Amino acid sequence: MEEINNMNNMNSKKILYIDMDNVLVDFASGIALLSNETKQAYEGNLDDVPGLFSLMAPMPYAIESVKFLAEYFDVYILSTAPWKNTSAWSDKAAWVKKYFGDGKDSVFYKRLIITHRKDLNKGDYLIDDRTKNGAGEFAGELIQFGSERFPDWKAVLEYITNNQLCQHYQEPLK
Ligand SMILES: [Mg+2]
Repeated sequence: MEEINNMNNMNSKKILYIDMDNVLVDFASGIALLSNETKQAYEGNLDDVPGLFSLMAPMPYAIESVKFLAEYFDVYILSTAPWKNTSAWSDKAAWVKKYFGDGKDSVFYKRLIITHRKDLNKGDYLIDDRTKNGAGEFAGELIQFGSERFPDWKAVLEYITNNQLCQHYQEPLK
């Protein structure tokens, strides 16, 4: 019975997707670590530098914010990897494991979706800095990270908590 209740609670959580580059991941921090030679060789196509995506640091407060949101939402990563940069696909998985853990206790355990059609994923909210790859056509609400309205994680959390977008509050959120 308890198991059924737990399942019901899980299923009634709203689905929240979170983009990686410039939302969870500080894209510029990886670029800054590249040699000048590499930057010149890949000028205009920095996305395609092999191994680039493993070098990047998290955006400020991204890790803490996501762990907090994972208590109230069914969270998934919804990211796009460059088609021509095969290492980006595995680098992204490695990055998620590095910062959130590899095992079942990770909030993103088996919850990494890499796609060029974000609009095909069913859900309630998408936190994304861009409208590309279907983000602009997402059927739920797009919370545009880095915009004037949502410049950083603090603004996103304030919006979500002030508007009670998530269910199952144990107590008022601070
Ligand atoms: Mg992005």
